[in-house]
Amino acid sequence: MKSSKFRPDLFIQAVAFAADKHRHQRRKDVLASPYINHPIALAHVLANEGGVTDTVVLSAAVLHDTVEDTETSADELRQVFGEQVASVVMEVTDDKARSKDERKRLQVEHAPQLTDEAKLVKLADKICNLRDIIGAPPAGWTTERKEAYFDWAAEVVDGLRGIHPRLEAVFDAVYARRAELR
Ligand code: ZN
Repeated sequence: MKSSKFRPDLFIQAVAFAADKHRHQRRKDVLASPYINHPIALAHVLANEGGVTDTVVLSAAVLHDTVEDTETSADELRQVFGEQVASVVMEVTDDKARSKDERKRLQVEHAPQLTDEAKLVKLADKICNLRDIIGAPPAGWTTERKEAYFDWAAEVVDGLRGIHPRLEAVFDAVYARRAELR
């Protein structure tokens, strides 16, 4: 991964773009938190727990759900943020034409083939999702469903290992709290 100088202007533009695209969405937790908290949490983990300063990675992190969960297109991302950021977002975007089980299986299968930038975004996404399941779980999820999500996330992360040992250790520490779900 070729690291370049941090560009706060581009990063903040990505935050503003994502906030606008997700403005009507809420997370699935009981309190229905604003959706944008989640993409911001990814950037927070990457920058403050992983020491990541790469503009492409941090921008792709805040944009990672725009194509999957809003009407944003890959072309739009390409026009506004350039080819590199757009392609990282597309790498971590599930194909919604496939079934939920198929999408989950493909995440496990594709993880080792992702670019380094996409691996970092995916790793941060799984860290944040496990933390949410512990601290602010989706309404109505049973213990079994939470445990199954933890185990699937660990399978995906196993396919990314070697990308960032410190963040992998952060993931492992969160995964170790699986016992608290009972
Ligand atoms: Zn996400």
